[in-house]
Amino acid sequence: MKIICIGRNYVEHIKELNSAMPTAPVFFLKPDTALLTRNRPFYYPGFTSEIHHEVELVLKISKLGKSIGRDFAHAYYDEIGLGLDFTARDLQDDAKKKGLPWALSKGFDNAAPVSRFVPKSRFPDLRNISFHLDLNGKTVQKGNSSLMLYPFDEIIAYISQFMTLRTGDLIFTGTPAGVGPIKPGDLLEAYLEGEPALKCRIK
Ligand code: MG
Repeated sequence: MKIICIGRNYVEHIKELNSAMPTAPVFFLKPDTALLTRNRPFYYPGFTSEIHHEVELVLKISKLGKSIGRDFAHAYYDEIGLGLDFTARDLQDDAKKKGLPWALSKGFDNAAPVSRFVPKSRFPDLRNISFHLDLNGKTVQKGNSSLMLYPFDEIIAYISQFMTLRTGDLIFTGTPAGVGPIKPGDLLEAYLEGEPALKCRIK
């Protein structure tokens, strides 16, 4: 399986990082070795001193598809969860400056903790899903799918022009504002529509 991540999908987050507004969805990949499941702890690696949390809604692809039309995209995912797009911001800033890829800063081991997935039929309105992230009991990020520049169906239509989507692939759909550093000892708790969904202790 592959993990596809959308960058720059919430205006307030684009502003906080002084990034340019995209004219099409920006995406990058994480390898499957980045997956961290079942609320397992994250061990802070030695090659970075600035990992940021980015809480995101995550789609799970349910059907093989290529060049999927926007109007049919909804049939290609059936579950939604939450994920943390851990980002080594120091390495990413350096890569951005040098025009190098983001693989190191985004694709390291366990850089993609994900929650359990919920059938999308449980959400009354996919364009109005709220989520938030608490760091040590204090809310640091709040998002809602209504604020996405590129909604789910548009993301799937866009990506599948270039890459075949397979059952089990995950799509991280971008983070809202409020990203910030984590350190050993921290506890991250992510909530989907107010319900606890994902927990990650930093060691
Ligand atoms: Mg992200």
